[in-house]
Amino acid sequence: MRLYTHPACLGHDNGPGNPEVAARLTAVLRALDHDRYAALDRVEAPRASREQLLRVHAADHVERMLAAVPEGETRRLDEDTVLSPGSAEAALRAAGAAVAAVDAVLDGGHVRRAFCAVRPPGHHATRESAMGFCLFNNVAVAAAHALAAHGLKRVAIADFDVHHGNGTQDIFWREPRVLFASSHEMPLYPGTGHPDERGEGNILNRPLSAGDGPYLFRELWEGDLLPRLHAFRPQLVLVSAGFDAHQRDPLANLCLGSEDYAWITAKLVELANRHADGRLVSTLEGGYDLAALAASASAHVEALMD
Ligand SMILES: [Zn+2]
Repeated sequence: MRLYTHPACLGHDNGPGNPEVAARLTAVLRALDHDRYAALDRVEAPRASREQLLRVHAADHVERMLAAVPEGETRRLDEDTVLSPGSAEAALRAAGAAVAAVDAVLDGGHVRRAFCAVRPPGHHATRESAMGFCLFNNVAVAAAHALAAHGLKRVAIADFDVHHGNGTQDIFWREPRVLFASSHEMPLYPGTGHPDERGEGNILNRPLSAGDGPYLFRELWEGDLLPRLHAFRPQLVLVSAGFDAHQRDPLANLCLGSEDYAWITAKLVELANRHADGRLVSTLEGGYDLAALAASASAHVEALMD
């Protein structure tokens, strides 16, 4: 099991008052710096190439994200999303981690699962635009790479971040080779994710309500999303692993605990084992209470290592 990360991911700075802070990644890496995770094969994330980014993003979006921001300045993209001098490098490493992880699990070697401990997160970034703390859509770049460079025909993306992955949905709206399955709180940012949003039948949106807890979350996956994912028979399982449905998270109101993340992870490993020769790549999305994030992400990694 591989762990991809890069110190440059700490260099993206959203400025004061923004919950998407470098300390999130530090908290995750500190939790994984423990004997229990000694078997993790730790690899420095490479940069994504322009070609890899252009599979899912418009050229002017890519150029906007990569344009240099002078030292000491920031460029505000929306209410929550900012470019700082270190942002382009962080975003390239975050997307590059997911691409490298896909290559590693598909190259037929001993690596079957990988977790990308990176920021900025990705699942709100659309084809044309950054939003919601996200610059490039890391999981979408990875999925497109699996289709284009490895010739896969069925890639599943499971997104259990508490927010809807509107960017991933936007990018794969007309791409039946990708099945996107998302549980999220509704109503909540970014406002999309209604079950009627179906793409070509390859988009599965399953909203939960504020206050819903582990029972409803597990029932929704066990009774609905997982059977549909199994029926799709994915050749690769990608995970948008956001941990902001945790009860302590300040941005949302679901009531999960770290054990629920271990549970859903084990189910997704089982999905990959049954159809995809075990191949699973997970990438960090949200999670804004540092202690809850560290506990949840390490429960996720532990379940991936099992
Ligand atoms: Zn989120």
